[in-house]
Amino acid sequence: MGERIYFDHAATTGVDPKVLEAMIPYFSQTFGNPSSIHSFGRETRKAIEEARQIVAAEIGAAAPNEIYFTGSGSESDNMALRGVAEAYRDKGRHIITSSIEHHAVLDTCHYLEKNGYKVTYLPVDSDGLVHPETVLDALTPETILVSIMHANNEIGTIQPIAEIGKLLKERNILFHTDAVQTVGTIPVNVQDLNVDLLSMAAHKFYGPKGTGALYIRRGVKVNPLIYGGAQERNRRAGTENIAGIVGLAKALQLANSHLEENRARITELRDYLIDRVLSEMDYVRLNGHRTKRLPGNANFSFDFIEGESLLLNLDLKGIAASSGSACTSGSLEPSHVLLGIGLCHETAHGSLRVSLGKGNTREEVDYFMSVLPEIVNKLRAMSPLYHAETERKECASCTRKR
Ligand SMILES: *Cc1c(COP(=O)(O)O)cnc(C)c1O
Repeated sequence: MGERIYFDHAATTGVDPKVLEAMIPYFSQTFGNPSSIHSFGRETRKAIEEARQIVAAEIGAAAPNEIYFTGSGSESDNMALRGVAEAYRDKGRHIITSSIEHHAVLDTCHYLEKNGYKVTYLPVDSDGLVHPETVLDALTPETILVSIMHANNEIGTIQPIAEIGKLLKERNILFHTDAVQTVGTIPVNVQDLNVDLLSMAAHKFYGPKGTGALYIRRGVKVNPLIYGGAQERNRRAGTENIAGIVGLAKALQLANSHLEENRARITELRDYLIDRVLSEMDYVRLNGHRTKRLPGNANFSFDFIEGESLLLNLDLKGIAASSGSACTSGSLEPSHVLLGIGLCHETAHGSLRVSLGKGNTREEVDYFMSVLPEIVNKLRAMSPLYHAETERKECASCTRKR
């Protein structure tokens, strides 16, 4: 196989040619500073405000001025958490989140903990689900914000955001969701989800890297992270990334206009892959909820091997995937998400995430399945633990036979 196969869409996606085409004029041709009052400035201002309208409409926001453009999904998460924490510090200093959030949320919470806030990290069940009643149980009179991700980037589990949001709305508690994995992939509507703040990133839905957006419901106070200018209604200083903003809006429009067909096709491909792995291979488990999961996400743990070695061997065969194991994340600890759903360190280390996208085909999954068992067997052949386990099994069957 000469062509490489990309199974890492949860990490990032390539810019769709139609999106690129929409962006191109805003580099050299239409370049005015949107804050300038002359015609050059008015042109780019118009492009930004059109993009804002599109994004607002696509996620069901009540008005375009509830959309704030940022520099990434991480920035949107930081802005939501730090911005609300600072703005409401006199009301209370308690925040609730889950133990399996993206680091953009978790590390911001750690920062807030060092600065006088209390954070509750809710546990999840073995499928990775946050139970709504655990959110209610954690509420205190000091709680100012709850932040629960819409879908997990590693194991794909989709949280009951609408249900949690309803409970919080009844109690007047602000609710943020990190929807970076779901926007453009499954339906996302801020009214249906009952959220006050929502983060997204263009590069996860075939838009450009370095552009995100934060939805902030009208009336919610959020302090800025960046000072220095009146851009984004005084909430984010800095001359706007016009091409990026135009690209984000175009990518979202495009993704949503083909959402159902892509969702159905990718879900079918994912299930085909999951079924084959689970039926054709031994000592493997699927991580994340079987059905409440992102269309393109499959996450497995293979016993007796390191996810890292698996990735390198797949890469040699031209397949790009990901893992939540040690070396990829640059730390010795396995993924907090896999530990969060109750896996032991050994099992967590042998994990593999395959994230499918709109370009993937059944032939690619078949090729993947033609090389994966071979790689896994080769790696297990080098594992003393695997030999101990299989010998034990054989001995047990011998004694049974006798
Ligand atoms: C990718 C991702 C982020 C970070 O987005 P960036 O644009 O890379 O900063 C945050 N949360 C989730 C769930 C993600 O998948």
